[in-house]
Amino acid sequence: PKFVYAFTEGNKELKGLLGGKGANLAEMTNLGLPVPPGFTITTEACKVYLDSGAEPVALREEVGAHLDALERRMGKQLGQADDPLLVSVRSGAKFSMPGMMDTVLNIGLSDESVVGLAGQAGDERFAWDSYRRLIQMFGKTVLGVDGELFEESLEESKRAKGVVTDVELDAADLRSLVEEFKGIVSRETGRGFPQDAREQMDLAIRAVFDSWNGDRAKLYRRQERIPHDLGTAVNVCSMVFGNLGPDSGTGVAFTRDPASGQQGVYGDYLQNAQGEDVVAGIRNTVALAELETLDKKSYDELMQIMETLETHYKDLCDIEFTIERGKLWMLQTRVGKRTAAAAFRIATQLVDQGLIDEAEALQRVNGAQLAQLMFPRFDLDAEAEQIGRGIAASPGAAVGKAVFDSYTAIKWSRSGEKVILIRRETNPDDLDGMIAAEGILTSRGGKTSHAAVVARGMGKTCVCGAEDLEVDTKRRQLTAHGADGRGSLVIDEGDVVSIDGSTGKVYRGEVPVVPSPVVEFFEGRVHAGAEDADELVQAVHRIMAYSDRVRRLRVRANADNAEDASRARRFGAQGIGLCRTEHMFLGERRELVERLILADAEREREEALAALLPLQKGDFKELFEAMDGLPVTVRLLDPPLHEFLPDITELSVRVALAESRKDHNENDLRLLQAVHRLHEQNPMLGLRGVRLGLVIPGLFTMQVRAIAEAAAERRAAKGDPRAEIMIPLVGTVQELEIVRDEAEKVIAEVEEATGVDLKLTLGTMIELPRAALTAGQIAESADFFSFGTNDLTQTVWGFSRDDVEASFFTAYLEKGIFGVSPFETIDRDGVGKLVKDAVADGRATRPDLKLGVCGEHGGDPESVHFFHEVGLDYVSCSPFRIPVARLEAGRAAA
Ligand code: PEP
Ligand code: MG
Repeated sequence: PKFVYAFTEGNKELKGLLGGKGANLAEMTNLGLPVPPGFTITTEACKVYLDSGAEPVALREEVGAHLDALERRMGKQLGQADDPLLVSVRSGAKFSMPGMMDTVLNIGLSDESVVGLAGQAGDERFAWDSYRRLIQMFGKTVLGVDGELFEESLEESKRAKGVVTDVELDAADLRSLVEEFKGIVSRETGRGFPQDAREQMDLAIRAVFDSWNGDRAKLYRRQERIPHDLGTAVNVCSMVFGNLGPDSGTGVAFTRDPASGQQGVYGDYLQNAQGEDVVAGIRNTVALAELETLDKKSYDELMQIMETLETHYKDLCDIEFTIERGKLWMLQTRVGKRTAAAAFRIATQLVDQGLIDEAEALQRVNGAQLAQLMFPRFDLDAEAEQIGRGIAASPGAAVGKAVFDSYTAIKWSRSGEKVILIRRETNPDDLDGMIAAEGILTSRGGKTSHAAVVARGMGKTCVCGAEDLEVDTKRRQLTAHGADGRGSLVIDEGDVVSIDGSTGKVYRGEVPVVPSPVVEFFEGRVHAGAEDADELVQAVHRIMAYSDRVRRLRVRANADNAEDASRARRFGAQGIGLCRTEHMFLGERRELVERLILADAEREREEALAALLPLQKGDFKELFEAMDGLPVTVRLLDPPLHEFLPDITELSVRVALAESRKDHNENDLRLLQAVHRLHEQNPMLGLRGVRLGLVIPGLFTMQVRAIAEAAAERRAAKGDPRAEIMIPLVGTVQELEIVRDEAEKVIAEVEEATGVDLKLTLGTMIELPRAALTAGQIAESADFFSFGTNDLTQTVWGFSRDDVEASFFTAYLEKGIFGVSPFETIDRDGVGKLVKDAVADGRATRPDLKLGVCGEHGGDPESVHFFHEVGLDYVSCSPFRIPVARLEAGRAAA
């Protein structure tokens, strides 16, 4: 293969091979924009190096040939003594990994050529400063010398001279600093700073390859779910200098405002400086607009280029540029990052400008951004006192009283207080406290820390790693140091704090929370067509309309009551994919269930069932009414029975106490016996789902009767109920056949009694590996399948869905075993393979088999694409995630 591409040879489609930076430099070169000439070493070369520990044999020669060409073009040679060509060597992976990998500038300088550079530039100070920077960067990133040593030495020379800034050092100072730096390199590495320019370049290239596997880079990839085997490209680019005087400079620019999407001139410029000075924030930049007065010619050219880029990329671009003595150079461009709100606005603006079509607009936004826009947020107009900032770990706006331990969090929340749990870091012991809290704040740990992972799993607001805040759990205090330049500030237990999980900001006191305008829109309280509708709402409205027009997957809701069903409908649900009837057995009805479980005579059991029947029927009628005209999948009872009985320990204590008082309570005794009888070591693998229906006579038929009668009554009331009855946890077709036969009898009875054809369908969940593996057989008795990917993931991996996220998942995420929990995003290779095969086998038996999914994955963006690909008919998810699922279903189809 070819390992090196000149900038003139590549293009923007080759990101995988040339990295984002290289592909875009090539694209700009071919657009005729002023890019300093250079070449890109491919990610393939990097992969060979990483796999084998040595550069591919052909690489040296290819680099040599491209270097020759570059030297001919520039009319000077790399490191040439009297007039050196200098190059930068920069990493550039397919996905941007800001600051994670290495860059070395000014390659080609040596003791000899530094003199030549000084002569050519007519600026001795500049030459020595460039050489100083080379040794420092090269020493640190290529030779692995501790960067602090250079920094200290630089500080020392300023101290000795009695100055504070680098610019106050003159040529002579920098020249002796170069000697110092060379000394550091010799001492630390046992050899001198390499004087051969080609050797410098080769070593720098290798260092960039190596930086792909640096600790920081690996951690970043895991967190951002970037595959580890992509490798990085390396860009070798002739140097241009922004630090050659007042007619030079460097800057960054956006073609539109990345926060709002507004078109205009956005960016910063720094006169007489190199790129790293801007990034490091060493000196104050000026607004890009000021460049117009400083250097009108370059400014005009830049504006022209920005327009070219926008029309060419058809998107917001960000840009790095340098002006060298009045000549503008483009150093980088890419499609720029933007806020969620800007993404929606820009997508619709570009449609209006005729640059992209609606299908493309859908690719410019995503479900995660939409979800972000749906969280309530702090009222930014309100006065808020920010006291610190951490990592935005799990979005949302949470307000509550500061508490410093789990116990207090639980106690206070039970008495109706809203609390924020503040810990240095959390561990599994904090779980109950995290559940009780409105939000979680930690001073340590990153995006994959325990607090962050667990909070995201729970959908709880979390800010973690707020290192400027000191947590003292003993004194129950949070100390913010030097906030806003004031002294330190103390938050005691009980003081109110507000945390913003979308920005990482922490405030003292209560910051008012406002509902998201996007939710207000979905709720129908704000109309996109209204005169004063904000631009964001209009953009969301339009994007949702595009998506609904193209998507093939239907979107249903997981909802068990009329209120959730109505909201789901407002959010665009096309039915209910999962009504968990166990939720209807809680509260006061628990006692009836208890009676059912305890009944040892048939009569007792029948009484209990008869008492439950009208209650269930009432629930279903409400649900069918809320979803009138749309399908409602009602699942028969699923959870283990002991969930309806009292806790074994509490009950044992109660019984023992009563015994000791000789105060026999017959009922408690019977209860305790039942609890013992039903106690299971692995309840998730125990007596639940269809197994309950087969073991407890009359339970499922009561539920089926309630569904059928409710449907009949809705029909009588001129409604249009569309009930589907779903049997959970089936592992073999025989289970399904038995339940189906019984159910059909009941339905026939109700139909006969009411004289209505109820058109009920009967189907099953596929949530056990055996069900998936025998889907072809199961389809013989099922009108539909709904994949229960929660239990399927649990049983395929052998992971307890209730425990793992809080126990070893953090370690798994840290080790990169998976980038995201398989309970959150479908595991395509394992669980997904079963789903895919079951779809095929089920349809082979019954071509009109209706197929859906109702596990949590139904609302997860990535997973929705998978379900689209394998050909499901619908996904079902919690009401709040419906817009996200609609959008992703559209994106998958567009
Ligand atoms: C599932 O297992 O995916 C499912 C939807 O059922 P539940 O979560 O109620 O077990
Ligand atoms: Mg399940």
